[in-house]
Formats: sequence, structure tokens, C-alpha cells
Amino acid sequence: MTKISPVGIFHTRADGYTTFVNRKWCEISGLSENEGIGYNWLKAVHPDDIERVREGWDRATAEKRDSGTQYRFLLSDGSVKWVLGRAVPELDSQNQIIGYVGTITDITEIINFQHEQIKLKEKAEESDRLKSAFLANMSHEIRTPMNGILGFSDLLSDPDLTSEEQANYIAMINKSGQRMLNIINDIVDISKIEAGLLEIQLSETNINDYTEYLYNFFLPQAKSKGLLLSVKNSMSGKEATITTDREKLYSILTNLIKNAIKYTHMGEIELGCARKEDHLEFYVKDTGIGIPKDRQEAIFERFIQADIDDCMAYQGAGLGLAIAKAYVEMLEGKIWVESEEGKGSTFYFTISCKREPEHKNPAAQPAVADISGETRKLKILIVEDDETSEILLRKTIHKFSKEILVSRTGLEAIKVNQSNPDIDLILMDIRLPEMGGYEATRQIRLFNKKVVIIAQTAFGFSGDRKKALEAGCDDYIAKPIDTHELQLLIQKYFGN
Ligand code: ADP
Repeated sequence: MTKISPVGIFHTRADGYTTFVNRKWCEISGLSENEGIGYNWLKAVHPDDIERVREGWDRATAEKRDSGTQYRFLLSDGSVKWVLGRAVPELDSQNQIIGYVGTITDITEIINFQHEQIKLKEKAEESDRLKSAFLANMSHEIRTPMNGILGFSDLLSDPDLTSEEQANYIAMINKSGQRMLNIINDIVDISKIEAGLLEIQLSETNINDYTEYLYNFFLPQAKSKGLLLSVKNSMSGKEATITTDREKLYSILTNLIKNAIKYTHMGEIELGCARKEDHLEFYVKDTGIGIPKDRQEAIFERFIQADIDDCMAYQGAGLGLAIAKAYVEMLEGKIWVESEEGKGSTFYFTISCKREPEHKNPAAQPAVADISGETRKLKILIVEDDETSEILLRKTIHKFSKEILVSRTGLEAIKVNQSNPDIDLILMDIRLPEMGGYEATRQIRLFNKKVVIIAQTAFGFSGDRKKALEAGCDDYIAKPIDTHELQLLIQKYFGN
């Protein structure tokens, strides 16, 4: 009977000395029948459980009662078996204990399942905590610039303002809008990374041009905080020419430099770059507030800031470094930080330079036209369902236009175009009621190949440009529309 039992069975004398074990007992404990006899079986119990099992067993035999406990066997191959052990006294006809009969049941799967559940629960709680922290942070991040925009717009309506005050308020509105746009861009980027929507777009890039551009770009910001900014880069033109994804590299570097300026109140910031065999190593060094040792890994995770208590003191959602890390990994590199609190931080990252360009000749960049140049006056159709965006566009293109038409839907745009074949330019929103902008463009192209159509979309997904061109648009501009960029585009198609 005991041979086919699905549980392990054992028998001991009254003093706990094992006299019998069945086949299943041996299978669970990993011991042979001989090894199971006597007191030796305890040696197979997991070292962390031995004391507890021994004490429990000694107490049960001394007190002559039932015993029951969960413990682990550590098998010779290193694996662990969880068991539920139970033993009951065996009585003779005078009710005297003459031994114990016991069972062990393998509960490894149940325990593993429980552990798995606990881990999942902890993970869910952690992600809940992160989400709440994120929402609180995000709400602060969005409300603050919103406050600025609404507050200063309100103040602008005061008829007694001096022109200097007006200019000041407008600058504040602009700054707040820019900050809001930054945070939205970060959220979009991180969503794109999470959704796996990002693609690498390789082209030949000269890093020296890049570092020089970044230096010039950030110099005014650094100066305004009284910081020195310098670049250490001794690469020759040939060494500095690599194939990489420029936009991602640009985003990594700007993130690091922005942070360095943000978290440094005195001293200097140095941007450096050197070629190391098959990769380039960049660093951004600052003399800022530094990062505590125990936060130096976590800051690369999304929504995490070095010191939560302090986060309100600095703007930011804790997304910049997570985005930078994802981009660095896409470029086959690593990112890390060396930092000492109160002394400063140096962020390092590498990118591979082994890659071959997808196109030998980098994609032609839009010609940088001189926007002071004249263009003829155009008949323009704005396809836009949102009135505020339409008014803004209308103002932006005012000086290029002789007539401006407006359609609120894709269907309307087709009709207006049919009855106005002399339209020169269509600024086509993509998300429209009734019929989207891509479909409207496709239909317009069936009868009008000549009109220049520029798609305007809300988020700059890398696939948008392709989609716009496939639908028949000539070009693409991301919303919110940068006035200067739109003027350059108009110049490109209609300049002399
Ligand atoms: P944030 O938008 O909050 O700046 P990041 O992901 O860019 O988000 O950075 C995460 C956190 O890492 C920051 O909140 C800050 O605490 C810390 N950090 C980043 N760069 C620096 C730096 N140069 N010096 C000190 N702390 C930094």
C-alpha cells in the first residue's frame, strides 16, 4: 500500500528515530531509503529550516502530541522542494505512545504559485504607486505652465498696460507654452517607446558640427545662470563622421545638457566626446547638486527623480533620462552616471559607430531658405476643425496670402478645392471630422495634382511623414506649428 501512496509516509520510534520511509518519501526528499532511516534525514532539510524543524519535532516527541509544519528539502541538484509534514502519535493498547506515523506532501507548486502571486501583487502596488506619483507630478507640471498662460493672458486684457509690460507678459506666456510643450513631447516620446513605435533612421552625421551647434545653442542659457560652458572634442573630421540616428543623438545630448544646466547653480558644464574603437563616448559633466549613490540607478527609470521631496523645486517629470536611456540602447550603447552629492555629476554614454547608412547620401534636408525673400501672394486653403488653430494659422500666413479659405472637414475641403481650382496651397489638418486629412488628400489628388498640400499633424511620429507623402502630400509640419518653420516651407515651394 505505502508503495503506491501519492504522499510520503514515514514511521518513527517514540524518541523520533525513523524506522521506515516509503518510496514517495524518498522521491520528495531526494534521499535513499537507508539515508532516511535514523535521525539523518534532517540533514536533507534546507539549512534555513533545519533549526525550526528540529525544535518542532523535539517538542512534539517530548510532549507526545501531533506535529505539523511546512519546510523545505534541499536536494543534491540544488533544487528545493516545499513539503507539508504531519505526524501523529501511534498508541498501544494501554494508550502509551510507541511511535509516530507521519506524511509529507509535496506543496512546491502551491508555494511557488503563492510566491508568484505575492510578487505580482507587489509589482502592481509599485506600479500603482508610480502611477499616482506620476499623475501628481504631471498634474503639477501641466498646471504650472497653464497657470502662467491663463494668468498672463488675463493680465494682458488690462488696457492700461505699458508696451514693456505687454511684451513681458507675452514672453511669460511664450515660456509657459514652451514648458508645456516640452512635457507633452516627453510623454509622447515615452509612449512611443513603450508602444515599440520607434524606428531608427540612420544617416551620416558629423559629430563636430553637432557639438558646436549644441554649444552655441546652450551658451545663452548657461550664461544667464552664470555658468561656464565648454566643449572638449579633439576628433578629426574623419573620426567624427559616423552613421547614426541624428534626432535620437540630439535628443540624448540636449536632455543631458538641459539637466546639467538645471541642476547646477555655480561653476561649469563640460560636454566632451572621444572615439573609442568601434564606439563614441560622450560625457556631460557639471558642478551641480549631485545625485545620492542610492538613486544613481533609479533616475534612469521612467517617472523617477533623484529625490522625491525635492522634485517640486525643479521642473520636470522624471522622463528625460528614461527617454535618453531608451535611445542610447537603440543606438547600441550604454548610459551611466558618476556623481557625488554637492560636488557634481558626469553622465556618460556610448553609441556604436559600426552602422552603415541606409542611404549613402543622407536624405536631402529641406533647403534652408532665407525667409526675408519674397514669395508671390498665394490663395491658401486652411483645413482645420479647431478655430483657435485656424486663427493662429491665418495670422502666421497672412503676409504670404492674397486670399484665405477655410474648411472644417475633409469632405468640405474636397468641395472647396473642386470649386476653387486656383488654390495654391492647402494646409491640411489630419484629424478631421467626417473624413480625415489623408483620405481628403488622396481624393483631391485624383483631380488636382498641382496644388501644394502640407499636412499638419499633432504629434511627430516618425511614420507620419511617410504616411503624409504616401497620401499625396508634398510636405509635413508638426503641430504646434512653428511659425519660422512654416515660413521656410512656404518659401521652399513658392520662393523665387
Ligand atoms: P527631470 O525631468 O525630473 O529632470 P530626468 O529623467 O531628466 O527628469 O532626471 C531624473 C532625475 O535625475 C532628476 O529629477 C534629478 O533628480 C536627477 N538628475 C538628472 N540629471 C542631473 C544632474 N545633472 N545633476 C543632478 N541631478 C540630476
